[in-house]
Amino acid sequence: MSVKVDPNLMKDLEAFGLKDANKCMQCGNCTAVCPLSEQDNTFPRRLIKYAQMGLTDKILKSPEPWLCYYCGDCSDTCPRGAEPGETMMAMRRYLTSRYDWTGFSRKFYTSEIFEIVAVAIVAILIGLALWIFHASNPNMEHAHLNSVWPASAIEIADLVMAAVLTILLLSNTYRCFSFIMGDLKFKIPLGIYIRNGWELVTHFITQKRFGDCTDKMQWFVHLLIMTGYSTVFMLVAVFLAGGLHVVGLSWEGIMFQRDVIYPILHPMRLLGYYATFAILYGTTYAIIGRLKKSKAPYKSSHGTDWMFLILLQLTTLTGIFIHFTRLLDWPLTTYILYVIHLMVAVPMLVLEVPFAKWAHLAFRPVAVFLVKVKEAYKKELEQFA
Ligand code: SF4
Ligand code: SF4
Repeated sequence: MSVKVDPNLMKDLEAFGLKDANKCMQCGNCTAVCPLSEQDNTFPRRLIKYAQMGLTDKILKSPEPWLCYYCGDCSDTCPRGAEPGETMMAMRRYLTSRYDWTGFSRKFYTSEIFEIVAVAIVAILIGLALWIFHASNPNMEHAHLNSVWPASAIEIADLVMAAVLTILLLSNTYRCFSFIMGDLKFKIPLGIYIRNGWELVTHFITQKRFGDCTDKMQWFVHLLIMTGYSTVFMLVAVFLAGGLHVVGLSWEGIMFQRDVIYPILHPMRLLGYYATFAILYGTTYAIIGRLKKSKAPYKSSHGTDWMFLILLQLTTLTGIFIHFTRLLDWPLTTYILYVIHLMVAVPMLVLEVPFAKWAHLAFRPVAVFLVKVKEAYKKELEQFA
């Protein structure tokens, strides 16, 4: 079987943040210290070898970049300073762009100007839409968002956005599945996929493999950001938009954004407070770490890392401010903050979820799940051999 070699692969990966991988002398130290490397998945050394040899197809078919959580142990112990952890990170960006059939992700990851312009365009469009469609006689006596932008209109826009994002993310996730499974995709009986389905769910919710790394704080921070963000996404984009009607409740209950203020111990309010705390703590920790370059995962920051953290923090902070201005009943300030809030929240969702950093929320658990499926299939074949 012929092997296709891409002489430009290293250069291509550099556009996604690869650094110093050419210093690697294949000693294998990184793989030996990696707490997550396994007998069948011996990363990161093997992946670095693929990059050095220009073996694009091998990287595309490999689940291994997703099995790494970037704890940084390998980079700390590499005798050549080849930054193997950063190599794995660059490969995840590269793979995200290869899974994305629109080509948008590649541009977003490889051009800071494109990234900034894309965020600015979406933000301006949202600002314009809110300006054009605001009511002509808003309530200026009390902070009442529904008097400016009716809940039903926001709900429709919200559902359309959620549907488009879901289609994009699912289609990219299917490509991730196809690359990793290759010819085995339809050979493996459906029952094996179903029996291992819990792996997908538990790895998504707990990120438990990260807990096997030596730096437990990184796992904690990752878990905080992931659960905080997922909670907000579910509340705003899925549950509150569509679900409340199903159970006969009003849409107007979105914390920090709409007009009903729940009692302090109401589950919705508690979930909102949890998400706020989790995101704020997690992103502040990560921003300080990146500014100080305090540990290996924070030493090299790609433009998309900063953009993601800044958008997430701004979304959370403007959400908190709206919550207080609503409690204080300041109408104009609430309306202005609401516009700013959506001008940062929507670009973050529209651009990050299907095309950039947040896509890994889907790709990583899927890759872990597929590794388990392959293992189970192999065991079944051995039993019948
Ligand atoms: S990245 Fe560093 S530790 Fe890993 S194989 Fe290369 S030289 Fe050795
Ligand atoms: S960053 Fe951590 S999990 Fe990733 S390859 Fe290095 S040691 Fe393993």
